[in-house]
Parts: sequence; structure tokens; C-alpha cells
Amino acid sequence: MDSRSAPAQCPSCSHGSILERPGYQMGEFRLYSCLNCLCHFVYPMPGEDELLRFYSGLYGERMLRKTQERKPLHADGPMIVRWIRRFAPNAKDACEVGCGSGRLLLTLKEAGFRTKGYEPAPILAETAARTFRLDVVPGTLQQAGSSQFDVVIERHVIEHVLSPTIEMSHIARVLKPGGIAILATPNFASVSARCTGLGWEWFNPPAHAFYLDAASMKHLFRNVDLDLVHTSTRQGDCINLYLAFCAALLLRIQRSKLHPRYWEKSVDSGSPNWMLMARRFLIPVTQGLFRATLPLAFPIYMLGLGEELWMVARKRAHPGHTQTDRGSP
Ligand SMILES: [Zn+2]
Repeated sequence: MDSRSAPAQCPSCSHGSILERPGYQMGEFRLYSCLNCLCHFVYPMPGEDELLRFYSGLYGERMLRKTQERKPLHADGPMIVRWIRRFAPNAKDACEVGCGSGRLLLTLKEAGFRTKGYEPAPILAETAARTFRLDVVPGTLQQAGSSQFDVVIERHVIEHVLSPTIEMSHIARVLKPGGIAILATPNFASVSARCTGLGWEWFNPPAHAFYLDAASMKHLFRNVDLDLVHTSTRQGDCINLYLAFCAALLLRIQRSKLHPRYWEKSVDSGSPNWMLMARRFLIPVTQGLFRATLPLAFPIYMLGLGEELWMVARKRAHPGHTQTDRGSP
């Protein structure tokens, strides 16, 4: 008989209809699906203290090193400014949660928005305030007052929290009526997630405690009366699909040797040097292959099967009144 403990309910919506997903075990963590809110989550779920320790320690230092190598303005800035102008044309106050060292906020500030950031890793929050003179406080959206912002941005945050349902209720609370939420998360319904399973680069519990897709995100928005106005997917950290498959093979080798508590010492997947070097070699090879077969890959993104999911949702100006989904792209 299997003596492992199993979760009694979904940590996000507290519903009891859950199923284990066979084949997803990494260290002590297994993956479960909630049949009510359609999210997928790891069990055992880390405690709040554990996560806080994780983000206050090595995570912040490593992320800082990573961002210092890059240009100050963020590559996603122009796309995000375009969405704000399109979906909330009168927006002035923009907030980013998990803003890191503030590169996107700086882009928004230069585009004329009043900005505010929340960042759980204190070292990153300090850097944003000191280097770019941004208003960034260490912490989370729980600290923010109600109806403060026209725009709330969370890129790769919702999969890290202890309950996406509670996080979404905070987003809805701090938004002004007519304000928009812009969220990005790894797409668990992507071709690469479906095909590579345990080796998927973004399957890295418990840094990623939840695994979401368009269906589970729509459920979260509906729950707090946010109307979806845009959905799109694109390639994620693996710059092409072939690299995603090669990375999955390498990760399977690495993950078979993981110590159960590996994550306390690592950031996300904590790739060892040999894997980073293999990746450097694989990038030009897979990029060549990708370009040669571009017509095959293109429909993947058009059908919403790309690795990174982006969604924009608007808070109703008058609660209870349903707006038309102007779905795009
Ligand atoms: Zn649930």
C-alpha cells in the first residue's frame, strides 16, 4: 500500500476534487490537478516562512547578478506600454509585483507613468530604489491599499505564490475600476510542457508551486470579476522549441540525481555549469533548425500552445456588468 501523504484539498481554491498526475515527481514533490479551479500544484507545498527565507537569501543575490549583466531598459517594455495604451488608455498609476531590480518599472516611468513596485527579495528592492530611484518596497501586494492602480503587472509571479486565488483577489482589490491586470506565467498547456513532462524547464518545484494555463487563468479572472481582454503565447526561456526538447533531456538527467531539499540551495532549476555550457552549444544548432522549419513552429504560437502565456484582464467599471471579451490577438 502507498503510505505517502496526499493533499486533502486544493491549496488555491480549497476544493476537495483533486487528482495526482502520474510521472511528475521531483525530489519530495509530486504534482496534483484541481478539478474545480483547473490549476496544477505541487505537494507538499512549502510554508510561508520557507518561501520567505528562499526569496530573502540566495534567490535575490543570484537574480541581482543576472539582471546586472543586462541593459537597464526591459525588452518587454514596448509591448507592455502598447497594451496599456490600448486597454487602459487613461492609465497613470502602474504597479509591478515581483519587480526585481526595477528594469520594467524604469521603462514605464520613462514612458510617463507613475510607478510603484513590490519585491519580496529585499536586496532587489533596495537595488531598484538606489540605482534607478524607483518607489519599490520589499514585500507583496498584500501591503497595498485598495483601488490604487490603473495597471498591475505580474510577470512570472502567480506560479510562485501560496494561493493564486488569494493573489488574484489582491490584484482585483488594488485595481481601480476600468484598470487592467497584465500577467505572464509558464504555459502548462504548451506543446513543450505536454511533450517533455518532468523535464520541462519550467517544472521546478517548489519555486514554481503552481502550474497554470489559459483555462485556469480564466477561472481565476472570473472569480474576481475581471474580464479577459487579451491572450497570447510566445516562446519562453528556451529560445526555440528544439532547444526546449534538448534542455528537457538534460534536465531529466540532472533531476534524477537531485537531493530532496535541493531547492533551498538553488534558484529555480539551479542549472549546473555543464548544463549551461551544453545549452550555449545547442543554441546556434537549434536556432538554425528552427529557422529552417519556421512554418511548422508558427501555428504553435498562433494556437496558444507557446511556452509563455500572457493575459490582460480589465476590472469592471460597474461590478455585475459583463463587458464583451475583445479577445485578441
Ligand atoms: Zn483548486
